[in-house]
Amino acid sequence: MPECVLCREAVTNPVCPDCLAEQVAAWLGEREPGLLSELRVRTRQMSLHLFDEDKCVICFKGMDICAYCYTEHIFDWLKTTKNLELVNGFLSAFHFDLERKGYVKRAEEEGFVLA
Ligand SMILES: [Zn+2]
Ligand SMILES: [Zn+2]
Repeated sequence: MPECVLCREAVTNPVCPDCLAEQVAAWLGEREPGLLSELRVRTRQMSLHLFDEDKCVICFKGMDICAYCYTEHIFDWLKTTKNLELVNGFLSAFHFDLERKGYVKRAEEEGFVLA
């Protein structure tokens, strides 16, 4: 079973950072288009191809980073904007922290999650 090179979790239903970034860009472009170029930079940081053991189910390219780690990376960056609405919107649209033990919990502790 291929695993994410960052968190070492087995990757189920793999979607690569580039494909996720397209979805994030569509979402972000409607809200904060000024952040799109930074999103591209942040995505490139996570678009690693070390082993490419897994294949993205959308574009079929090799991938190493799971959706959780990618969205965590983007989420940590969005938090630096201090835009609560944006941070919460991102969480409801993209969070892959399904058990709310990772970055969702951290965001709650940091006071970012309103609901
Ligand atoms: Zn991971
Ligand atoms: Zn892909």
